[in-house]
Amino acid sequence: MLTFKTNVSLADFTTLHIGGPARYFVRAKTPQELADAFSCAREKGLPVFILGGGSNILVSDEGFDGIVVKIEIGGLLFVEKGDDAVEAVVGAGEDWNHLVALSVRHGLYGLENLSGIPGTVGAAPIQNIGAYGREVKDSIVSVDVFDPDTFREKTMTKNECDFAYRHSVFKTPAGRHFVVTRVRFSLSKKGMLDTSYKDVHDYFAQNGEKPTLARVRSAILSIRSRKFPDISKVGTAGSFFKNPIITAGKARELQERFPDLPQFPTENGVKIPIAWILDHALSLKGARSGTVGTFKSHSLVLINNGNAHASDVDAFAKEIERAVKEKTGIVLEREVTRVSFR
Ligand code: NAP
Repeated sequence: MLTFKTNVSLADFTTLHIGGPARYFVRAKTPQELADAFSCAREKGLPVFILGGGSNILVSDEGFDGIVVKIEIGGLLFVEKGDDAVEAVVGAGEDWNHLVALSVRHGLYGLENLSGIPGTVGAAPIQNIGAYGREVKDSIVSVDVFDPDTFREKTMTKNECDFAYRHSVFKTPAGRHFVVTRVRFSLSKKGMLDTSYKDVHDYFAQNGEKPTLARVRSAILSIRSRKFPDISKVGTAGSFFKNPIITAGKARELQERFPDLPQFPTENGVKIPIAWILDHALSLKGARSGTVGTFKSHSLVLINNGNAHASDVDAFAKEIERAVKEKTGIVLEREVTRVSFR
């Protein structure tokens, strides 16, 4: 039985602590409840907004004139698949970091480098979350989705999800309307640890410890805590902008102007850690404009210094976008999704 609440502040459900009221708010604990919420929206002629952990969105101050459905589909099962293989079957509403913690506690390899990322399991495939040399697509077997057009659930193979760097079919017109209900991950009792990412490599070199599954998780939690704010204390949505991938020609031009700018060649171009430009070319580390600012240890992370409105964050982000464009010619893309409804 669904319980609809009215006029619910979305600021209480986003890690930026920003967002106006939802006309209706409902929690879906099963795929059936999700379908029921969509039926109700159809009857009332109202739009639906799907909410996960609220950790990667900037919700407008005007709120949402429709039904916000918070995905709370639970369930976390480890299924033996023979030899050393184990499949984790996980409901979309489970907390991502809880899944990683539990996998590590069970001695299962595969997700440890993604420790500490906020948000729900269902949100992980949408932008193919990644960190410290690994992406969630490396472990995904398949994704179950609810299709509000047909009111059916279906399983999408990893291939059908069309994963790329911080991208998947769920960000395109072909898959944007699907709601993730469950994800299957392939884990292993005898995996290989990946400690090649510089920060992780340096951590073990400095500590003189031999990496183990549990130690890689603690190392990553420790590295993250030095660079990213604690979302239980600071209003933030993490990295606000994507690190841009630019052409080799553009990279050469920047190399001449900024010889110390790190550059990482990828299949599609050269990846630039844009925080370097914000720090060294624009002096924006720890910058502040009224209620909004960049985090003191990581300028890619925007923070709400208290009582910020979505419009304040938007204006501050636009200011950074303008400065980066002016300084480097690079057009920044936002990682955080702007949700405006009216
Ligand atoms: P960082 O280590 O300062 O690195 C900044 C950028 O440089 C990232 O784009 C990173 O690529 C790239 N980079 C560093 N070493 C590289 C290498 N050896 N080869 C290719 N590219 C390299 O990043 P940070 O801001 O502190 O974040 C730490 C990790 O958390 C990063 O992996 C970042 O991507 C991840 N993160 C993920 C999300 C998300 O999934 N939504 C949000 C925030 C941060 P990669 O991005 O490929 O690592």
